[in-house]
Amino acid sequence: MTELHSSLARERQSVEAAPPLSAPPTGRAEDAAGPPAEIDVRRIAFRQCVTSMHRAMLTTPLGWALAAWLCRELKAIDRLPGWLALAAPGWVLSLLLLAFVRRHGADVTRHGAAVTAAAVIDGLCWGAMAWCLMSDDVILNVGIGAMLCGVAAVNTPVYITRIHLFFCQSAAMWLLVLVNALRDPMPPMAHGAALGLALLLALLSFYLQGVGARMVDGIRLQLANAALAAQLQHALDAMARQAGTDALTGLPNRRSLDAALAAQCAMAAREGRPCAVLMLDLDHFKAINDTHGHAVGDAVLRAFGQRLQAQLRRSDLCARYGGEEFVVLLAGTPFEPAEEVGERLRVLVTAEPLVEGVTATVSVGTASFRPGDDMASLLARADAALYDAKRSGRNRVVSG
Ligand code: GH3
Ligand code: MG
Ligand code: MG
Repeated sequence: MTELHSSLARERQSVEAAPPLSAPPTGRAEDAAGPPAEIDVRRIAFRQCVTSMHRAMLTTPLGWALAAWLCRELKAIDRLPGWLALAAPGWVLSLLLLAFVRRHGADVTRHGAAVTAAAVIDGLCWGAMAWCLMSDDVILNVGIGAMLCGVAAVNTPVYITRIHLFFCQSAAMWLLVLVNALRDPMPPMAHGAALGLALLLALLSFYLQGVGARMVDGIRLQLANAALAAQLQHALDAMARQAGTDALTGLPNRRSLDAALAAQCAMAAREGRPCAVLMLDLDHFKAINDTHGHAVGDAVLRAFGQRLQAQLRRSDLCARYGGEEFVVLLAGTPFEPAEEVGERLRVLVTAEPLVEGVTATVSVGTASFRPGDDMASLLARADAALYDAKRSGRNRVVSG
């Protein structure tokens, strides 16, 4: 289960990198929030099975110890080294195969044959136990038969997400048990072991098909949920971005400004970090609208925003405050006096037409953070300074 969760976590990371809802479909199931691609489901089911096989095989020597215990004080103990001489190399080979497959990503399309080989080898090693150890001792033979049934039972959860590997392992094991039951002279109860094991394997196979299918359905469902959650997150992120962006200029809007300003003011109050705001208002903008039309007015606003933005540092923020008023938040050090930045911006706006044939001037009010200030008092001082600039003739910078 832990492996399933870590596999799903890995898959979740990959689907989280999926494009947002608005992106054109690429054909992958995650994009449409529909059922996940079957290859992803198979990949996870395969990975989980490989990991379980690898772990389960690490406990195989416990089975050898149990077999040795069954044979204790019996003649069969002499044949134990012979069986181990077969089983141990097979076990090492299976472990190496599985370790190799895991190290290379346990890819269902590339490693299917290697894992099938590991399952078959494991089955043959266990089946060889019947061949090598069953003797004329009835109790021992029954014990070996029971042990092989136990091996089959232990393997059911191991192979649950890749049932056909269980068939391969079981068939290989049962084949050698059957061969043992057919030899002459047949060890007592060998046919019983073959029959009993056949019955158990048939029943397990029958019931496991349904359980395995439901396990794979569970993986499919969790993948679909992960894809859906990732898409939902993308949609929420996109909405959050939209909610903080001015539709006309693409600049941060007042909501974003408020958040950034509150953070900067808190930092300025706590750490004494410098912080200033510039409030910029285009002069006689109504006249531009009236003369050239609102479409040109919109273009002027966009160009004004771009021109401001191009002049600022990455740490500064330029937001559309409303109408033709913009606010620039100057944050952190090194700190250039706000009036100088305001003057630079004013000259830049006035120097060239904002759009073809339309030149505009701008009035700027500035305010720097002072001890005891908060967001509202800082903005109010910049606003008051802007009105002073307007009152005293426009196209100028006034500090508040
Ligand atoms: P002042 O120099 O005193 O600032 O004068 P003004 O004309 O710039 O200011 P006023 O407040 O009188 O007019 C602002 C105008 O801005 C009026 C409004 O229609 C226009 N406006 C506000 N938002 C938009 C917009 O998104 N697009 C356009 N084209 N015009 C806008
Ligand atoms: Mg104006
Ligand atoms: Mg205005």
